[in-house]
Amino acid sequence: MSNSVSFSLAPFDLVLFGGTGDLAMRKLLPAMYFRHHEAQLPDEGRIICIARSDLTTEQFVQKMEVAARSYIKPEDFHDETWKTYCDRIVYAPIDITDQSHYDKLAELLKPFPDRVRVFYLSTAPSLFARICQGVSEAGLITHQSRVALEKPLGRDLESALQINDQLAGAFDERQIYRIDHYLGKETVQNLMALRFGNSLFEPLWRREHISDVQITIAEQLGVEGRAGYYDHTGALRDMVQNHLLQLLVILAMEPPVSIHPDAVRDEKIKVLRSLKPIVGRDVLTNIVRGQYKSGVVTGEQVLAYRDADGVDPKSNTETYVAIKAEIESWRWQGVPFFLRTGKSMPEKRTEIVVNFRSVPHSIFDMPMAPNRLIIRLQPEEIIKLQIFAKGRGDEMRLQPVDLDLDFNETFEKRQMIAYERLLLDMIRGNQTLFNHRDEVAAAWEWIDPIINTWDELNVEPRLYAAGTWGPAASNALIAKDGCGWIEEFT
Ligand code: NAP
Repeated sequence: MSNSVSFSLAPFDLVLFGGTGDLAMRKLLPAMYFRHHEAQLPDEGRIICIARSDLTTEQFVQKMEVAARSYIKPEDFHDETWKTYCDRIVYAPIDITDQSHYDKLAELLKPFPDRVRVFYLSTAPSLFARICQGVSEAGLITHQSRVALEKPLGRDLESALQINDQLAGAFDERQIYRIDHYLGKETVQNLMALRFGNSLFEPLWRREHISDVQITIAEQLGVEGRAGYYDHTGALRDMVQNHLLQLLVILAMEPPVSIHPDAVRDEKIKVLRSLKPIVGRDVLTNIVRGQYKSGVVTGEQVLAYRDADGVDPKSNTETYVAIKAEIESWRWQGVPFFLRTGKSMPEKRTEIVVNFRSVPHSIFDMPMAPNRLIIRLQPEEIIKLQIFAKGRGDEMRLQPVDLDLDFNETFEKRQMIAYERLLLDMIRGNQTLFNHRDEVAAAWEWIDPIINTWDELNVEPRLYAAGTWGPAASNALIAKDGCGWIEEFT
């Protein structure tokens, strides 16, 4: 869980399908650069980038540098190590829909049959099955090979099972790395460290002491540039099925018997299977579906979602969703987990708030707010425990103070890109931070009935002004349990 790798990596070939794409340029190639700069990559480690564009390796590297300089802060960009990093890069113009082109990849890989091979599918999901078939038919899958892919893993249970079956046709489950990049974030791993590396929290981590949990993923961005994908997807599929449920699971799971990937995944799956199904009319009472109308975000006028380029003007796609989720277990019975995510919100913020129960009786002649644990993932990574202490002065007046772990101050200066950890784990062969196919299926099993009910009852989204925290109904949803969204980060 530290930034440093405690053992050296085996020689590897990382094959990046979609090497010229946004994800590769913005995240994956810079992530590998940082690990190279930290001298954590073996000399025998190549990054083979693949796309259709007719480029030489030299031209690709120039393109990569232009992109990297715009994504990496100047103080973190080191000319000397950048030059040696570029020596690892090979570019191959290959059309992955043309089987004969896989021969070029085979030629590149042939000299190093024993190296770890990571096939990273950074392309449109519609190409995943084709790439698996391509590398399989070309005989490129060795014992030391792995495949990595990111959400969206389907748009419902059926399509997710289909993708997983296609993957299983070429790779064993132990070779498949399903990425949820939230799990690569230091704070999420620290949540596990906090829970299972300290004796302090475990006795409190249950229904007797925790009143409710809130998990927020708020984006300031609207649908800019992604309308084609988003209008057929919506917030429930795009954010809840994966990121929000993954955060809930890490927070709620029982202590695993070890940090071994199978042990952690077993506990995660149990939480997903203990989620109380939200079906029928409960969908109307436990979930708020919202969509932004025009408004102002950070001083800029924003068009309504339905007026955005590429969006159906009558679209009912949700850009906001708030859910009261419940976990049916001895530990969590009766503790609401409030989940919300939205676009065009006042702030970019990903945050978990654990509200403890109030003191049973205040002896201080003043109302006492509950203790609160705040785990913030974005924009900065911080863990805070809000407690009460007496302020200076002759009066016994209590005020909230924070026990604060600011990662920027406590640990090294640069905040790691989540992919740095994930890419190295793929090369190491450590699946702890990746999703098993059963997890993906269990998440869809919970999500599908909600979508089906919305469709059957033709549930229209409630409108909220861009730049606000969502529809008023989301406040009413949580107020029914005597709670309120924690919007002020103190
Ligand atoms: P993108 O910018 O559209 O890039 C797609 C890449 O695929 C390009 O390099 C493109 O290059 C290549 N490609 C397309 N057709 C090809 C073909 N027939 N043969 C060879 N290469 C081909 O997509 P992206 O945003 O990087 O996303 C990649 C994946 O990550 C998607 O599954 C996406 O859902 C997921 N993802 C992305 C982000 C993000 O922040 N971007 C976040 C989460 C998940 P050519 O056109 O030159 O062939």
